[in-house]
Amino acid sequence: MFDYLIVGAGFAGAVMAERLASCDNKKVLVVESRHHIGGNTYDYYNDDGILVHKYGPHIFHTNSRDVYDYLSQFTAWRPYEHRVLASVDGMLVPIPINLNTINQLYGLKLSSLEVNNFLASKAEKKDRIITSEDVVINKVGRELYEKFFKGYTQKQWGLDPSELDASVAARIPTRNNCDNRYFTDTFQSMPLHGYTRLFERMLTHPNIKVMLGTDYKEIEGLIPYKKMIYTGPIDYFFDYCHGKLPYRSIEFRFETFETDRYQPTGTVNYPNEHPYTRVTEFKYLTGQKHIKTTVVFEHPKALGDPYYPVPRPENAELYRKYQLMANNKQNVFFTGRLATYKYYNMDQVIAQSLTLYKKIALITKNERPTNGQKLPSYES
Ligand code: FAD
Ligand code: UDP
Repeated sequence: MFDYLIVGAGFAGAVMAERLASCDNKKVLVVESRHHIGGNTYDYYNDDGILVHKYGPHIFHTNSRDVYDYLSQFTAWRPYEHRVLASVDGMLVPIPINLNTINQLYGLKLSSLEVNNFLASKAEKKDRIITSEDVVINKVGRELYEKFFKGYTQKQWGLDPSELDASVAARIPTRNNCDNRYFTDTFQSMPLHGYTRLFERMLTHPNIKVMLGTDYKEIEGLIPYKKMIYTGPIDYFFDYCHGKLPYRSIEFRFETFETDRYQPTGTVNYPNEHPYTRVTEFKYLTGQKHIKTTVVFEHPKALGDPYYPVPRPENAELYRKYQLMANNKQNVFFTGRLATYKYYNMDQVIAQSLTLYKKIALITKNERPTNGQKLPSYES
């Protein structure tokens, strides 16, 4: 009998498995429908020997020392600060929009103070910031919105920015300085030997068994367990009883070139002129030295693996219906990007699972029998 069945071997599930096995000596079965661990962060060496991320580029960044310290038990790090250029008006300019972007785009030599005034003169101030269109136009005006955000967002989500929550475009700041980094978090680095190796080290514990290539519904009722941690899509768990939650998918098209470098930086974004949103060259991220180079083109699409929850009011409302049902499931805990329908980065998912683990550990502690009192049974 397993203490826990954990559905999904991405960060949400692996953190739970590792904590429950290592700290509480629980017997854990991790069931994963894909043929590998690591969830969407899975990386591997392709036929040319280049380390690539199967489900698109994953750059680790966090402000949380707890998350960084936690992961550091399972990996050494390679410091890496991601830089992105956007292809706009025939030029490659830094994104997030900063002082360099404006000066390059308009052939100016503005200072930080002057760029504030420049952007203020372009911005259309909004009383209420509700959508992703509002958030950008309010900061930088319609012209820059159309150059950098409108087309990219339409491709990425299949929706106009005016149909998406403000939180989506708000991920991208605007800066009045020359900081060309994509992220400004305190901790920015890549697992030295890749994500898959990190996961292997997390899941190598005598109490953890991993079953790959298996949807958990195939083994329900066959393998006994006491409680479940679920990290797959929440609507699937409840057999879509309230209807399907939209998730955006992406086709990842890999190409290897017989050259050392393909592009001038880790990622180039294409807001306008191409069917893909961005191109990432892995060797920048991984630091690998190789005479060839592999890049990935991202072509967003509606159907396929569920990668992105789509943040907009009607979806939040539908999710709440499932969340209510989830709250009433006593021995099932939901965590992760798909199970809580949140557009979370890796560090947020790790933090969410570490918090859930602490909550479960507390419940378990309070359940310990005292004076001959019996433990409540969780077997269904
Ligand atoms: P997942 O990694 O999706 O893991 C869930 C696992 O559950 C999957 O492996 C799935 O196969 C399995 N599963 C689902 N249903 C079942 C079932 N019925 N039975 C058995 N198994 C099941 N974050 C960053 O911090 N930095 C980045 O640069 C970054 N880039 C990203 C780029 C892309 C293209 C995408 C899509 C995401 C990116 N993210 C990034 C986000 C990151 O991928 C997630 O935050 C993180 O991987 C979520 O972990 P998870 O465990 O919740 O989900
Ligand atoms: N975005 C954009 N243009 C860009 C970069 C981002 O319009 O050049 C918008 C787009 O809607 C995107 C969102 O900002 O989905 C968040 O961007 P991020 O790079 O964080 O996306 P992710 O890496 O999660 O795909």
